[in-house]
Amino acid sequence: MVYFIVLCKYCGNPRYVKEGENGFKCMKCHKYMKLNEVRIIAKVESVKDAVYIVKELKLPEELRGKIKEN
Ligand SMILES: [Zn+2]
Repeated sequence: MVYFIVLCKYCGNPRYVKEGENGFKCMKCHKYMKLNEVRIIAKVESVKDAVYIVKELKLPEELRGKIKEN
């Protein structure tokens, strides 16, 4: 199973989306968006990796600039 790591285009909150899904709802701002509207920042092959990356993206400082880029 492939997972995409994406950032909400409204608030920048990171999350992962399973391959094959067309869209998702942001868990933070609750807005719905299509997968092709957002930037896919990583593609991984296990949910474990997906969870790890999302957790890391939620860390402050170092990665914050990246998260707010959109
Ligand atoms: Zn959001």
